[in-house]
Amino acid sequence: MALSRLDNLYRQMILDHSAHPHHHGTLENATPIEMNNPTCGDVIHLSLLIEEGKIKDIAFDGSGCSISTASASMMTDVVIGKEIEIVLEMADSFSKMVQGETVENIEELLGDASLLSGVAKFPARIKCSTLAWKALEKAIAAGESQTSQGNLAKHEEGEL
Ligand code: ZN
Repeated sequence: MALSRLDNLYRQMILDHSAHPHHHGTLENATPIEMNNPTCGDVIHLSLLIEEGKIKDIAFDGSGCSISTASASMMTDVVIGKEIEIVLEMADSFSKMVQGETVENIEELLGDASLLSGVAKFPARIKCSTLAWKALEKAIAAGESQTSQGNLAKHEEGEL
């Protein structure tokens, strides 16, 4: 069976982003959040700066497979400058998408990151693709607890 145009685009995007990841490195004024995916061995360190309820800057490094690196690179491209509320919706939609669920207006919401819907065909790689988004959710929760909610957010996290 010939590869569809979308499959080709999907492969090309993963190759490009994993070879030359965007927003790669660390931010000076942020404490990186670490997250790993033991099933593949992917590790990500995500630095995040939130200002006035928006992602002001973001960067990542670590070591991961091509899908985890490409997904992190695409994520940083699409979340920068966006409001936290929207970013959390994007993270949730991304997770549903790679698990094969149909999400309305996914291309509009996720931009290029929606090309990773192809991951749904490879269940072993789902956690590789969601690692960066999970790290982002964790970094947002940590950032919010630092700025506004203090001990309350930490307390809730401890109860999980
Ligand atoms: Zn991986």
